[in-house]
Amino acid sequence: MNNDEKSPYEIKSTELASAAVWHNMKITPAQRAALLQQKPCCIWLTGLSGAGKSTIANALDALLHNQGKKSFLLDGDNLRHGLNKDLGMSESDRAENIRRVGEVAKLLVDAGLIVVCAFISPYRRDRQMVRSIFGHGNFIEVFVDTPLDVCESRDPKGLYKKARQGILKNFTGVSDPYEAPQSPELTIDTSRYSVEECTTQIFKILSL
Ligand code: ADP
Repeated sequence: MNNDEKSPYEIKSTELASAAVWHNMKITPAQRAALLQQKPCCIWLTGLSGAGKSTIANALDALLHNQGKKSFLLDGDNLRHGLNKDLGMSESDRAENIRRVGEVAKLLVDAGLIVVCAFISPYRRDRQMVRSIFGHGNFIEVFVDTPLDVCESRDPKGLYKKARQGILKNFTGVSDPYEAPQSPELTIDTSRYSVEECTTQIFKILSL
């Protein structure tokens, strides 16, 4: 198989596989979770821009925090200011964006946290790759299934307008595809339910 036929993940792992040795840790993820008295997991919100991912992820993080749970929020826009600021919106950059975030989320889950992730993550393959990093039951995919016309009428960041004007390229839903999840753990429609109701729907399926 040549590099043209490989996914971005395979190419990267091949390049890196040569020298790194795995060091076992004295303290296991299970011990860390036990200390925090919770069941760590990754809650992954996917959907169009303006669907409500950041809003709901923030509300869920706050709900968990107020319930005494140790949670953390990873937001796509925020990480593009730092860890992923070198990445654009091409398909391969989006794959790398999601790969990095998935690895960070896994580290945080191994540290014992309940991690809430809000990323458009439009490609099924990328989301499947993140799911495969986690153990069974530790990855909860939530499809924030807000219709495109609703997202566009909200346009909280003015991005749809710019995308329609051709100022923004590779814009999901306008000039780039969004591959809807086929079997997410949960689907929520923010055009029918309030932020609080959507947040509660997610909270209810968690076994913490
Ligand atoms: P995304 O992170 O998916 O790009 P945002 O959370 O930034 O979306 O923006 C969603 C917008 O929709 C916000 O202005 C929010 O107030 C509004 N909104 C209206 N109803 C809801 C709802 N039920 N759930 C989430 N957001 C909602």
